[in-house]
Amino acid sequence: MDYVEIKELIVFAHHGVFKQEKELGQKFVVSARLYLDTEADVIKDDVDSSVHYGEAAMEITRFLQAESYNLIETAAGRLAEHLLLTYSLLRKVQIRLAKPWAPVGLPLNEVAIELSRSWQPAVVALGSNMGDRRGHIETALRALDRNKSIRLLTSSELIESSPYGVTDQEDFLNGAVYIETVLSPHSLLKYMQVVENDSGRVRTRHWGPRTLDLDLIYYSDLIIHSEDLTLPHPEMQKRDFVLGPVCEIAPNYVDPRYGVPVCELLARLEK
Ligand code: ADP
Ligand code: MG
Repeated sequence: MDYVEIKELIVFAHHGVFKQEKELGQKFVVSARLYLDTEADVIKDDVDSSVHYGEAAMEITRFLQAESYNLIETAAGRLAEHLLLTYSLLRKVQIRLAKPWAPVGLPLNEVAIELSRSWQPAVVALGSNMGDRRGHIETALRALDRNKSIRLLTSSELIESSPYGVTDQEDFLNGAVYIETVLSPHSLLKYMQVVENDSGRVRTRHWGPRTLDLDLIYYSDLIIHSEDLTLPHPEMQKRDFVLGPVCEIAPNYVDPRYGVPVCELLARLEK
């Protein structure tokens, strides 16, 4: 991917855990690689088809001076997200943030953090079987869209399905949405749970009736087994009401566990 590079920009700012660092401030040195959307036509030779590096350098300076973080890790991460959200042509941002005068009482040259953040593809499944089912799903789509760290790419048609697991309950309306996000998988899940709770969802029994269920099906090609998040969603390959909508919006999305496109998983389930 093509990138614009800003090297060793010096910014006087107030990040650090010590009181003196917050009060007096110190010199920081920032380098940034701004990776451009390869679809953007840089060959056009006008600045609207690229990122104006003078403006970006000003934006980096403004951001680092407006905030005061304890850790350079946090400052660099927030800065990377801020740039991704400010310049729509950016796909990925790599930041190196150094503190040459870090007050550690030893003669070191600098301490620094280097990290990158990027827009990542993800798929979310939506379901509802209580009250105004379509209304709950549409509200959830608007709530996802309102979050500036999430962009909706495509949403599926909504389909009727019979309850799965616990069958003595109303039919579901199900759908899926293809998004891209700068949120981490856990932050995205947390936001999805806020949206679920806002719909008035009460957790009574597992697989029981719900105003709104948002499941994270895929996040990039990640495979995760943590206490509160499993990726890809562990049940999705057994559920036609998930595979159908996902195959509609992202037919070529390759399942990282099986190495086959999601529509192939649907075909296997239907066999
Ligand atoms: P279900 O969707 O299986 O009916 P819930 O919606 O109540 O159940 O989710 C229960 C828990 O599942 C959540 O607290 C969440 O932490 C966990 N979970 C693990 N992996 C995922 C995932 N990929 N998407 C959504 N929730 C997940
Ligand atoms: Mg769920």
